[in-house]
Amino acid sequence: MSARTTMGIDIGSTASKCIILRETPNDGRENGREIVSKALIPFGAGTSGPVRVIDQALADCDYRKEDMAYILATGYGRNSVEAANFEMSELSCHACGAYFLFPGVRTVIDIGGQDVKVLRIGKGGALDTFVMNEKCAAGTGRFLEVMARVLEVKLEDMARLSAQSTERVNISSTCTVFAESEVISQLARNKNKRDIINGIHRSVAGRVAGLARRVGVEKDVVMTGGVAQNSGVLLALENELQTDIETSPLSQYVGALGAALLAFRKLGSLEA
Ligand code: ADP
Repeated sequence: MSARTTMGIDIGSTASKCIILRETPNDGRENGREIVSKALIPFGAGTSGPVRVIDQALADCDYRKEDMAYILATGYGRNSVEAANFEMSELSCHACGAYFLFPGVRTVIDIGGQDVKVLRIGKGGALDTFVMNEKCAAGTGRFLEVMARVLEVKLEDMARLSAQSTERVNISSTCTVFAESEVISQLARNKNKRDIINGIHRSVAGRVAGLARRVGVEKDVVMTGGVAQNSGVLLALENELQTDIETSPLSQYVGALGAALLAFRKLGSLEA
């Protein structure tokens, strides 16, 4: 029998992510899986992102949609994925994906486009408890995108610029609208962009750390979501929480990875 494959799709508010997993010969264990394809389209729920991300993930490997033994969708826009056999909350999927990449994980800090989640992971990778900020953009990727636009810098350059900061500039408003005005007035005072960006990262870290303390931060701490790619936020968060934080080049795919792993579990329960 040829190795089975599953697809995990994570439709976020900002980006659509897809992972195709294949079982490896030592199947029956969750680490007996390998990623055969992954795709990301920077458009989320309510856009062409969901359809395009599936097409792209399939185009990059030798499989067709019909070859998928199970397709599981997660994320804010999970209800809109017609191809899916099942939908699951992003909390379970993030817990599962993070545990696969980091078996010692006890705390997951996920910063996405429009929300922040902090998950406490129990033994075996199950979700114990969580807190979530989805009411406002403070501390999210959207907050950073707004600030990058005002500062006329690329999102990808923020970490590098922040690392070159020499003077402490504080951004005290957590509200995106007020923080934007604060950044504009700091620019008007000829403050250096590098220092302002460093202040923005510390502001995000302060906000996220407040959320994290509500669930209790226990090691190993792992950061996921698109914003984990900004090492300036990661460093500021390590400093704020006084702990090491791990991340992975797959940080933005953790929800999709968890969905593809849980698809194997679903298959197992169907076959039992
Ligand atoms: P969602 O699941 O809510 O759509 P993601 O976890 O996919 O969110 O993350 C999207 C966010 O990640 C966006 O707000 C974007 O600004 C941020 N992001 C993506 N790539 C980078 C990068 N290279 N550096 C900094 N931020 C990034």
